[in-house]
Amino acid sequence: KPVLAIVGRPNVGKSTIFNRIVGERVSIVEDIPGVTRDRIYSSAEWLNHDFNIIDTGGIDIGDEPFLEQIRQQAEIAIQEADVIVFLTNGREGVTAADEEVAKILYRAKKPVVLAVNKIDNPDMKDYIYDFYALGFGDPFPISGAHGLGLGDLLDEAAKHFPKDEKKDYEDDTIKFSLIGRPNVGKSSLVNAMIGAERVIVSNIAGTTRDAIDSVITVDGQKYVIIDTAGMRKRGKVYETTEKYSVLRALKAIERSDVVLIVLDGEEGIIEQDKHIAGYAHDAGRAVVIVVNKWDAVEKDEKTMKAFEENIRGHFQFLDYAPIVFLSAKTKKRIHTLIPMINLASENHSMRVETSVLNDVIMDAVAMNPTPTDNGKRLKIYYTTQVAVKPPTFVVFVNDPELLHFSYQRFLENRIRDAFGFEGTPIKIFARER
Ligand code: GDP
Repeated sequence: KPVLAIVGRPNVGKSTIFNRIVGERVSIVEDIPGVTRDRIYSSAEWLNHDFNIIDTGGIDIGDEPFLEQIRQQAEIAIQEADVIVFLTNGREGVTAADEEVAKILYRAKKPVVLAVNKIDNPDMKDYIYDFYALGFGDPFPISGAHGLGLGDLLDEAAKHFPKDEKKDYEDDTIKFSLIGRPNVGKSSLVNAMIGAERVIVSNIAGTTRDAIDSVITVDGQKYVIIDTAGMRKRGKVYETTEKYSVLRALKAIERSDVVLIVLDGEEGIIEQDKHIAGYAHDAGRAVVIVVNKWDAVEKDEKTMKAFEENIRGHFQFLDYAPIVFLSAKTKKRIHTLIPMINLASENHSMRVETSVLNDVIMDAVAMNPTPTDNGKRLKIYYTTQVAVKPPTFVVFVNDPELLHFSYQRFLENRIRDAFGFEGTPIKIFARER
């Protein structure tokens, strides 16, 4: 997907514009407590364009001086984006900080669309003329507060989206990424996998824009390890900004079929571990939980069970994800990873037979009658699988409002009991018939 980044000095309204473009995206299954969402990166749609958007203003650069922060945010946008929206504030005119941003963007060989925010009514259009001085052509007047002018701005931005986006890899290639906070051992795991017997490494320098993926073949099946280089140290900007590594992780998740959430067995689970895991779930990717450094844990026969319960407690929304305990260092159980990835990937794209599915749902309803609301009972007419990656089901009912979260959860569990689906989220939507 094309990536659009919003850049500009503080207080020009970047987050407001970001939220306007992203819009309210409602989904029943994503309505799960404890799943925090990152608001600096999101997918968005405009007409027939599907793209990702970054609010660089949300990237925390630490306590660097003001101009240095703006500079680093702009650098990140240049690195990551296909198109940059340079946002300014029409009520304040061109400031020194705007000129600073402009200087950095001149050097970028990326298309820049200049937007002048806070033009809340047509009388204020004259405010935009100052901004020609920045040298990015016609400024687009917009109002984040009132949602004005965004259509024209996005039309212009979309002109610069890369044409016919080639598919990264063939369809039967399994793409996976290793996600986790620094030092849990992601790079060590990649090295251990790449170095294992029967693993053929065909290229490390990948074929995508960023040239950061690793392609391997195991037993005739091709895999791509997404963003391998992103795990290596990459210079100052990359090291100093925690939020930036989150951004990289979110991008890697977008491109993956299967996400390996890597935890540190020695240190245990901390809040930071949950954040990105929630995103992988929301994005509908298959998930395997990997507990690394198991060699360094002092254990008896109860330790693994206790750790597993701890994981289940912290990651309730990932109850479908298998857990692997291993060590990148001693290579113990490293060989179990590929079969786990295969399992999760197969289930992620599994299709079930409609007649069997409807039998399962009918049995479920017989076992646990549908809920009522104000005397009105939910009626389920028919259920069908409409998509894979992740498996997505539509239940045709008399009134979608009546399919409450708890009953939906019950149906999900019945579907899982019947078909498996280990390692993948499944989505269920109700539609009126
Ligand atoms: P990353 O930041 O997640 O990529 O983590 P690294 O792969 O750089 O590993 C961080 C540190 O943990 C390094 O010092 C590794 O040697 C160490 N480490 C990685 N895997 C293991 C493991 O399985 N056992 C132990 N004891 N140490 C490990």
